[in-house]
Order: sequence, then C-alpha cells, then structure tokens
Amino acid sequence: MSVRSRLAAGLAAAAVGWLVAGPAAAGRAGHLPLRPGPPVTDLLWVPGTLRAAGLGVAEVPGWRARGHPGPFHPQAVVVHHDASGAGPSPGTVGWLAAGFRSGTDRHYDAQLWVDTAGTWHVVAAGLAQHAGPGAGWGAVPPGGGNEYALGVETDHTAGEAWPPALLSSLARGLAALCAARGWDPATRVMGHREYAPGRKQDPAGLDMDRLRRAVAAAARDLGQR
Ligand SMILES: [Zn+2]
Repeated sequence: MSVRSRLAAGLAAAAVGWLVAGPAAAGRAGHLPLRPGPPVTDLLWVPGTLRAAGLGVAEVPGWRARGHPGPFHPQAVVVHHDASGAGPSPGTVGWLAAGFRSGTDRHYDAQLWVDTAGTWHVVAAGLAQHAGPGAGWGAVPPGGGNEYALGVETDHTAGEAWPPALLSSLARGLAALCAARGWDPATRVMGHREYAPGRKQDPAGLDMDRLRRAVAAAARDLGQR
C-alpha cells in the first residue's frame, strides 16, 4: 500500500471513529479518538537514519504496523522521560507497545524510546499518544503534539542523574532525525514541559536549550562524516 493510500485509510478510520465514538468521547482531554483500525505509518525511514548516524537501534517486533488511527504529520520531536524506576528499566518497551492496543488515552505510548545505554528502540511507525493537551511550541501548534511530533521517551525519572551515554545518543539521534527531514532543531526539538507548560515537568533536569545546542553540534559532526 502506498503512503498516500495508507494515509487515506487512516483518515477514513479516524472519521469512522468519530461517528462511532461521538464528539464527547473523542474530545475528552483533547486526545484523538482511540478506536481499533488500520494505523497510519509514516516513519519507515527512522531506523536506517539512526543506524547511519552510528547509533544502536532495536526494532520492537511489529513496529511498522503499530500506530493509532488518525492524522499524523510529524514535523518535530517532543522529548520525554518515562518516569520509570531509577536505573535501566527495559520493561518500558513492552509497556509503550501495549499502549497502542489499550483503547484508553490514560495509557500513553510513543514511537521511540532511548535506554540508559543510548540504544534507540523503535516502538511504532504511526500516530502515538505522547503529548496530550499543550500550548504548543516552535513548529507544533496548540494541542498538536501527537499529530505534528514524534514522541521520544527516555529511560529516566525525576531526580535521577542523566546517563552520559543516553544524553550523547539522544543528541546525535535527534540531529540525524532533524537532518533527514530538514528540520531546524531550534524550532523542532522541544521538551514535553515546553509544549505543555504547567502540566508536565519532563524531561526533568534536562536543560533543553543545552540539548538543542548539543543537537546542533551533533548535526555539524554528522555533516562532516
Ligand atoms: Zn512526557
């Protein structure tokens, strides 16, 4: 199926979801309606892009077909922390994947997860529920975090030191993703707390301006390879 026809199928599924669920269910908390249906897949380029930047990539089985129905036009990245326990929390991958079949917007999910060693786990190719309501930031309009941004979860929780391997891989991976799409990190890389100020604190303890500078430096390094 072509990207265009997959997109059309996803949009049709979203329209059906509206008819079935009704506006009250669909509009709750600003989330898209969550109904079983064919996912929109648009991120098949991600693993190769990350590997070409020299990063470790783990493809979670089934990721290509994983995604919620609904419009998905990624133009930016929202960085999160997963609030898992301190230290490595490999169980987060399965938890994120399960979110795509949970049928509830209380179980968040995301397309990507970076572990404490800096490996990128590709969980889904389609729309995820990671951003929720927000004021918008940079290239992402108010409330548009899920539709217009990839969600990158990190194995981190508030008060925990950020593992250097995670941080360097995060910066390099974000640089590669932005370069592949021609995105300027200054307006396309944001923290969840920047998108949803007052509601979210993640990624806690991570200076986003410093991260964006690191992404820009990594982009220059990638350009010189
Ligand atoms: Zn978050």
